[in-house]
Amino acid sequence: YEFVHKDSRQIMADTVNLLETQAILHNVMIEFHSDYRPLWVLGVENQLKQVFINVLKNAIEAMHNGGVVTITMSLEEESAVLIRIQDEGSGIPDEQLAKIGQPFYTTKDKGTGLGLMVTYKIIDNHQGRISAESKLGVGTTFVIQLPYKEIAV
Ligand code: ADP
Ligand code: MG
Repeated sequence: YEFVHKDSRQIMADTVNLLETQAILHNVMIEFHSDYRPLWVLGVENQLKQVFINVLKNAIEAMHNGGVVTITMSLEEESAVLIRIQDEGSGIPDEQLAKIGQPFYTTKDKGTGLGLMVTYKIIDNHQGRISAESKLGVGTTFVIQLPYKEIAV
């Protein structure tokens, strides 16, 4: 796999476009806020896109009555790209939070339980971090950090 410099905002924007139809079908609006500066990462574009797809699809699927998914991307201390994906979905009970990302762990009738496992693996391969906070009945926020890799000019 080739690791190349990419503006992670662009990868996210492409992903949001890709999922727009699915969001509309679920009465979900995706709001995307990002820094005005390029948020450079060194990564495999298709893998990072897969990460964003997996987390956003879960967010959309968790909002059974629709709602808003809020994506915020910013630069943290000139060293990390910080990506927050917040939903207004069902939330994850505390005792289940430790299980998400384990292979085949799913609470969905037709789920595979593989999306987050793949997501965690890809983030690890990019020297990043990912965590989830959740409140039952309120929603879930996934926080992803990726190393910021400014292009030398
Ligand atoms: P799948 O989507 O096939 O179930 P994932 O690995 O993507 O597999 O997710 C595993 C489980 O984590 C889901 O079945 C669900 O219970 C929980 N989950 C993940 N993201 C969210 C979210 N945003 N809101 C509520 N539950 C979530
Ligand atoms: Mg999933």
